Amino acid sequence: MRILVVEDDASLNAQLKSALEEAGYVVDAATDGEDGHFLGDTEPYDCVVLDIGLPVMDGISVLQRWRDDGRVMPVLILTARDRWSDKVSGIDAGADDYVTKPFHVEEVLARVRALIRRAAGHASSEIRCGPLTIDTKSSKAMVDGTTLKLTSHEFRLLSYLGHHLGEVISRTELVEHLYDQDFDRDSNTIEVFVGRLRKKLGHDLIETVRGLGYRMTAPDETSEKAG
Ligand code: CA
Repeated sequence: MRILVVEDDASLNAQLKSALEEAGYVVDAATDGEDGHFLGDTEPYDCVVLDIGLPVMDGISVLQRWRDDGRVMPVLILTARDRWSDKVSGIDAGADDYVTKPFHVEEVLARVRALIRRAAGHASSEIRCGPLTIDTKSSKAMVDGTTLKLTSHEFRLLSYLGHHLGEVISRTELVEHLYDQDFDRDSNTIEVFVGRLRKKLGHDLIETVRGLGYRMTAPDETSEKAG
């Protein structure tokens, strides 16, 4: 999962970025509204954390422009405590949720998790697929009750496929959602990661759809999904 943080306060920006990275997300960061708008307009994010008071272009205008252009990614806005009107304008502009400053970073993490889950149609923090359980809260995956030892790359890949159960996901989409903008994007590395992940899962949950990409389905659900 890939997140964009737009916050002009340098230390808060760094704090959010490192907390989100620690939680297993890939994070791009911008410090003004124009850069933030550009990134959100050109890169596919699974969630955006957007400050309202930003230099060059304010957060409401950034959000308004994205929504006008049909960008539907979940957006969590950060509002100042004494500016209740920002929440109203933000939600009217298309924000999905808000956090009021000052906040505990855990609250931002919890809301980001919930937004990503809801966008993918999952109400619970655990995603189940046959013998596999992905716990989005602790960033852990279990097969038949045993926790898997996964690298952060492997967990992100598994989590992305798990959030999109039954959907065919192309290699390009995976690369775009699993790496930040500076990563050398070689889609062959995805094949390597998928191979390793399959070994660790020990079950045939990730299917290669020739020429299209990958699909994760529980073994007994395959026939249903196909029909
Ligand atoms: Ca600000």
